[in-house]
Amino acid sequence: MQENVFVALGSNLEAPREQLRQAVAAIAALDGVVLRAASSHYGSAPVGYDDQPDFVNAAVRIATTLSPRALLTALQAIEQAQGRERSFRNAPRTLDLDIVLFGDRVQGDPELTLPHPRAHERAFVLLPLQELSPDLQIPGQGPVAALAARCAEQRIARLD
Ligand code: ADP
Ligand code: MG
Repeated sequence: MQENVFVALGSNLEAPREQLRQAVAAIAALDGVVLRAASSHYGSAPVGYDDQPDFVNAAVRIATTLSPRALLTALQAIEQAQGRERSFRNAPRTLDLDIVLFGDRVQGDPELTLPHPRAHERAFVLLPLQELSPDLQIPGQGPVAALAARCAEQRIARLD
């Protein structure tokens, strides 16, 4: 059972906070997955394409017997079930589920890059991760707290 697997959640369409609640429940219900912890919700500015609503983001820590690829497939099925459409890069979305860390696994496969290739430079991933695991290290990048401190200019706020 791989412990310390972190999944980042994001939504900016169709009641984003409800999308995240539903996604956390769906992740917890997956065969071979145990939900260990879920972060608060965070409101964040969109990245890459400005003309869209703010995002709501969160992260979960899970333990799993699934392989990284099997977990990705299961997460993509949850995205589809919640109406995810892939239109253009950085487009608004009902649900985005990214595997941030799979234990200490490091791999460069474009289909599944671990750690997630942009996690270390995005406050909306780092702050929820830091909340769940303050001493966490991102392999090849450093401590999550130091990485988050470098993203201070990114607009993000913890929601109630
Ligand atoms: P993004 O999350 O970058 O906005 P998508 O959700 O559409 O975009 O994902 C695009 C592709 O990224 C997916 O088809 C998936 O194969 C790939 N990918 C690579 N690494 C990861 C990862 N760590 N977690 C999730 N998807 C990943
Ligand atoms: Mg994604």
